[in-house]
Amino acid sequence: MNEENAQKTIDIAPDGDVVFVIGTTEKRVRVYSLFVKAASPVLNAMLGPNFEEGQQLAKTGSAEIALPEDNVEAIEIIFNVIHGRNDKVRETLSPRELLQVAIVSDKYDCSVSLAFAIRVWLSPRGGSDPEELWALAMAAYLFREREAFEKATSALVFNHGESYINLSRKHEAVMNPIILLNTAAMLEEARNKLRMSLLMDVLNGDWHCGSSSKKGRHRPDWLMEFVRRAGNLGNTAISSTLEALDQDAGSSVTYIADEAEYSRREQTFKSITEGFRTRHQNAGGLCIWCVRTGEDHGNHK
Ligand SMILES: [Zn+2]
Repeated sequence: MNEENAQKTIDIAPDGDVVFVIGTTEKRVRVYSLFVKAASPVLNAMLGPNFEEGQQLAKTGSAEIALPEDNVEAIEIIFNVIHGRNDKVRETLSPRELLQVAIVSDKYDCSVSLAFAIRVWLSPRGGSDPEELWALAMAAYLFREREAFEKATSALVFNHGESYINLSRKHEAVMNPIILLNTAAMLEEARNKLRMSLLMDVLNGDWHCGSSSKKGRHRPDWLMEFVRRAGNLGNTAISSTLEALDQDAGSSVTYIADEAEYSRREQTFKSITEGFRTRHQNAGGLCIWCVRTGEDHGNHK
């Protein structure tokens, strides 16, 4: 081994018998063959008698395996966990890092040995950035974590206003395209249903002035103000639409005669947005089995 390579070696097990040479940078990671064989059926086969690397290990007591396509940080995280080196692993991974770990875990079938770490990594987190939510959803999908997948996709339905297909295309190189397409199509469907529900809530809203509402005067001007604030429902994230509806109408074009009337109108607006949030905020997430199998939800729920 030359000096340059020696500097690159990460000794997860300093006296380990196998060195993985990873990625285009050829970073070297030294591990125990027994640990990786126990953690991954795929690597178990690779280090077994039917593969050259396994034969070399049996003959000489050590082996080197090149994994040029894999992500070195993800491999390092996974190997640290399966070697019990949890002091080297962060509890919180960014959605992008987590997706890389999920891709490697899926490829080498490590999800059982990583089960507890996966739950910590996927534990609920805030955030509404669509790209991060998409990465989280895909990671949850690859880890086969039903609840986390449902949560991330629900947040995507609420917080993304643009095309899901465009979002999915960014992962074409690393994910099964059918899964990407199924997810994007089902998200689109779920968001359409939710937008339609919002529209129905508005149309069914109580647009009368006064507390004994039905006897009050009908207020199409309130409805028009609501529609004006909602803006382009078809192109805006549902969360942004609700925020716009909640916003105090300092810039309102509608003439409001007095404070009391203004407050009644805002109350009417609020009852619609709050009712909608209560019923739908955490709904709309996708079922992992529907995405995986493409079959009707009734067949597996
Ligand atoms: Zn289903």
